[in-house]
Amino acid sequence: MTRRQTVDQTLVKAEDDSIYFSGNSLGLQPKKTKIYVNEELDNWAKSGVHGHFVGAFPWALADECLVEQMANLVGAKKEETALMNGLTVNLHLLLLSFYKPTSNRHKILMEAKAFPSDHYAVESQIRLKGLNPKESMLLLSPEEGCYVGFDLAHAVGNVELRLHDWNVDFACWCNYKYLNSGAGALAGAYIHEKHRFTIKPTLVGWWSHNIKTRFEMDNNLDLSFGVNGFRISNPPILLVRSLQAGLEIFNQTDMKALRRKSVLLTGYLECLIKHYFSKVPDNPQKPYVTIITPSDSEERGCQLSLVFSRSTKSILMQLMKRGVTCDQREPNVLRVAPVPLYNSYHDVYKFIKVLNESVKATGHQVNDEASV
Ligand SMILES: *Cc1c(COP(=O)(O)O)cnc(C)c1O
Repeated sequence: MTRRQTVDQTLVKAEDDSIYFSGNSLGLQPKKTKIYVNEELDNWAKSGVHGHFVGAFPWALADECLVEQMANLVGAKKEETALMNGLTVNLHLLLLSFYKPTSNRHKILMEAKAFPSDHYAVESQIRLKGLNPKESMLLLSPEEGCYVGFDLAHAVGNVELRLHDWNVDFACWCNYKYLNSGAGALAGAYIHEKHRFTIKPTLVGWWSHNIKTRFEMDNNLDLSFGVNGFRISNPPILLVRSLQAGLEIFNQTDMKALRRKSVLLTGYLECLIKHYFSKVPDNPQKPYVTIITPSDSEERGCQLSLVFSRSTKSILMQLMKRGVTCDQREPNVLRVAPVPLYNSYHDVYKFIKVLNESVKATGHQVNDEASV
């Protein structure tokens, strides 16, 4: 959706920047992405198959060129981290190895109303083992010793992570949200090194084979240890180079510094929303906002989820007309994500102004479908 398609030109000045608060869905494009991707298109045109092993970014090893940077960002060792596939595919590959149900230990604990892809992945994994999700997918408190795996889609590049130190068993994530590596970007996976010799991939391909003997192609699998053995195909070079552009920006700073700004930026947004849009007891007609995200900054990332006392859909429409990009989750939640990398305090201030205009513009509506 371009700005042109959603913005009402009569409500904004042509020279005004839009306010992009959707980094939680799709991060903006780094300036280097186009350069890096074009470099590989040139390499391919000029070198053909030789590109696999020549140049600064030999395609066959391209993911490994970035894995250390990625590992730093999630607080893991590079041997515990792999760049491969998309997030849901990685979730399936990890569950195939970590989920070995028995008759008295077959339940997967997960949040109700999880992201649909996660829900479907877990459901289909349970069915794959011949079990019934109604019995094996329950909300239970975990027993001591069970494996713990995380989907970090909204955590990587948003909050500080120390997967290794926290003793997390396995995790996977996508890199197109806060990591700005482009829609469908190459995803990441992690397995703690303590499982290096015990957890084996269920599905393998030629990239699961130890690099030292991979190209002998004798079809006797010499499996790489740990998460590296979970890689199936050769890495997609164009996606690797887009990921490089995304990761390099994070490498110029660190999550500690970004979080410092993030806590202030989101705190500022929270403070202004509470100031201007709190419920006024003696004026029940005045529209108000409830923030359903935890108010303790240690319990949240940069995103705030807002519930309006009147139709969220119509407020979102008014916001979009005025050049704001954010999104809605049914039935009545508006998600706004000021991203510390590219959003400013001024963006937050302008957002509040525009939000006020937008709420006013919907004021004539009597249809309070989304009352809290
Ligand atoms: C964005 C997101 C996904 C998307 O997965 P893809 O396989 O990359 O499309 C999955 N799970 C969660 C929790 C997400 O936020």
